[in-house]
Amino acid sequence: MSNRTNKYIPYSRQCIDEEDIQSVVDVLISDWLTTGPMVEKFEAEVASLSSSKYGIAVSSGTAALHAAMFAINLRPGDEVIVPAISFVATANAVVFQGAVPVFCDVLSDSLLLDPGQVESKISNRTKAIIGVDYAGHPCDYNLLRAIADKHSLVFIVDACHSLGSSYCSKRVGEFSDIAVFSFHPVKSISTGEGGMVVCNDSNYARRCKMFRNHGIVQDHKQRINWRYEMQELGYNYRLTDFQCALGISQLKKLPEWIIRRNEIANKYNEILCDRVKPLVVKNNVVSAYHLYVIKIEGHRDFLFDKLRSLNIGVNVHYLPIYLHPFYQRKFNEYKNSCPIAENAYNDILSLPIFPTLTDDELMYTINNINNLLEKR
Ligand SMILES: *Cc1c(COP(=O)(O)O)cnc(C)c1O
Repeated sequence: MSNRTNKYIPYSRQCIDEEDIQSVVDVLISDWLTTGPMVEKFEAEVASLSSSKYGIAVSSGTAALHAAMFAINLRPGDEVIVPAISFVATANAVVFQGAVPVFCDVLSDSLLLDPGQVESKISNRTKAIIGVDYAGHPCDYNLLRAIADKHSLVFIVDACHSLGSSYCSKRVGEFSDIAVFSFHPVKSISTGEGGMVVCNDSNYARRCKMFRNHGIVQDHKQRINWRYEMQELGYNYRLTDFQCALGISQLKKLPEWIIRRNEIANKYNEILCDRVKPLVVKNNVVSAYHLYVIKIEGHRDFLFDKLRSLNIGVNVHYLPIYLHPFYQRKFNEYKNSCPIAENAYNDILSLPIFPTLTDDELMYTINNINNLLEKR
């Protein structure tokens, strides 16, 4: 990396090395560009990393969420409880299936789904709860699992931020019925675009595989017979072999990248002035630190503008989903329904965090924040 003077520092970015490049090139000159051996290898590695029996690679995290909604047979009229603060795709996947996202408020110190409020959102149409591991911090798997079991609901984790995180020394994916990952360039590892569903239920796995391939049933007879059957309406959500090869190569570096992300977070915690409130990380958790989010009451917009003008790519994650125009038109009844999420939205700012962020770039960011706040 060149030195940072006047160079834009993004809030996140991919890390690609020679080994990654070679792994992609090797596949490009092989016999299989898609539906080949790299797909199964990548699936097995991500499944094992999440202590799950099955991994189903798909073309994005959004496709993974959609496949999960299909797998559980989500239908029009069904309801799914989702946190108010997440990327829009979490709720969109519910809407794709004609079902209704029911927005639930979050905890103010972590912005994770508040288990204490989930039960009040359950109706006789509720089919599932989607917890989001916001910023890389696993949501309260134990409590959410217990609530789901008590009411016979499916517990799904949107783990798009938390590949490599752990909870009570266990891996992401061990508590949920289905967990989904994203391999977009800003996430823990990248395949360009890409996603994965992990689960232990063979029926969910079978339905996800069918869904990513047009709803066509795959059995071994198909390979020796021209005949195939489309059983359900599916999509082309397949991931290519060269993307999976990149994913496999990236996974090797995940442990050291998480250490570096934690190092960066600790530096921020240590040196940022007291007026900056970082989100809490519970001590039973290792966060993959997809995001480093601070709350800065009253001065968020000021800091955002000033830091951007200094070429520091801060960002805001996220506007509560139901405040997006589409959701206001379609599901207007949620306005004001999650006050903690709406208030937090005014105060939050995501600071740069990614493995190749240099110490120099980190100190430049910290010093500028401290200096700017000193004058306010
Ligand atoms: C990135 C992300 C997604 C969607 O993943 P894509 O791969 O971009 O489709 C879904 N949910 C959350 C919480 C995300 O951060």
